[in-house]
Amino acid sequence: MKENCELNEVDLDLPMMEERTFVFSLESENKVAVVLDASTSGASRTAIRTFVLDLAVKVSPNQYFSLWFLGSQERYSLQDAALHLDQWFNQNLDRLKLIGPILESLTSRGEVATIVIAGEGPIFDLADWESENIFQRVHFLGGSSTSLSEGKFPEKELSADKFLRTLNSPVLQAKIVGSSFIPLGWDENVWEWDGLTLAAKRTTSNLANGSVRLLCPENTQPQLHLLQRNQKNQTLELFATSETGTSADWYSLPANEATALLKSLNGQEFDCLKCGQKHPAMQFRCYEGTSILGKPIFASFAGEQCFVLLRETSNGVDWKPYRGQGLRLSESRVWMNCDLLSGIYIFQDGHWILQRDNVECNVYKLEFFGGEDGRFYAVKL
Ligand SMILES: [Zn+2]
Repeated sequence: MKENCELNEVDLDLPMMEERTFVFSLESENKVAVVLDASTSGASRTAIRTFVLDLAVKVSPNQYFSLWFLGSQERYSLQDAALHLDQWFNQNLDRLKLIGPILESLTSRGEVATIVIAGEGPIFDLADWESENIFQRVHFLGGSSTSLSEGKFPEKELSADKFLRTLNSPVLQAKIVGSSFIPLGWDENVWEWDGLTLAAKRTTSNLANGSVRLLCPENTQPQLHLLQRNQKNQTLELFATSETGTSADWYSLPANEATALLKSLNGQEFDCLKCGQKHPAMQFRCYEGTSILGKPIFASFAGEQCFVLLRETSNGVDWKPYRGQGLRLSESRVWMNCDLLSGIYIFQDGHWILQRDNVECNVYKLEFFGGEDGRFYAVKL
């Protein structure tokens, strides 16, 4: 067994890392901003009116639609359109045909929405937004002779049914992308990690809801990228919660386990609680007997799958389970347990890199842990 490894922080220019659990729902976070052109009249106006009123009736309760008018930052409710749509058109008659105010309003609220623009004739400021990479989630609907984007983007028919079919097209591919994250906990039935991205398994039919726990530089926002059967890409926002991989409770180890474990953690041989013989420090399984895989020496956490956390106290040793495939050891180091990608990852030049030359240990001292005092260890069982 290897010695308890020490970690040395060297790089002081590292960004602060935040451990956050992100939840997503492909249904309820399906936000759509419907942007109307109030300058239309006659048949075009009638077609837009029909489209909006039809949408209001047909959208699923899980989808969140907001209504906007070109040139204005005011947000209207699709549900109220049946009563107020004509009045809203009149309020917005004299607006300039600009998409900027709506995009600015959505961006300032951190809202990632599918955008559908219904109208006719060119929008004046589309070119200003070309570098923002938003047009992959914009649908232009019109079908009149004068295009909203002057022919730059395809324009589709103003039909609520057809638009909703596009929106609800099955997801073929889903992956979580972001600058420099490393996943700490994920559902292995749903996601696969390849060392860089977390991608949904092809066999996953139901990706409707879920959560992943990621470690990423603060102020970065990972996103969920979707490719739908209709070849449309969608980007969904992930929402952070405060959930972590550890429970709040520590459990105290029985005295005989604590005595053996303290010796072990302090680098000494200890008397095995299973076979009674001396075992070297940092050993957590007993290989005496017939089982090649060995048996857990410490009965208290024998049922745990991967990592446990230990705390030396004045009375002995406390422990708690850790849920997840990745455990944060320090500001810039993560201990991963996932088959071939297992090992210590170090954050360098904006990426998490597996240290292949590091000798892997089964115990690390935790230099900091939730701001609590005491001596903390992480153990891989
Ligand atoms: Zn033993």
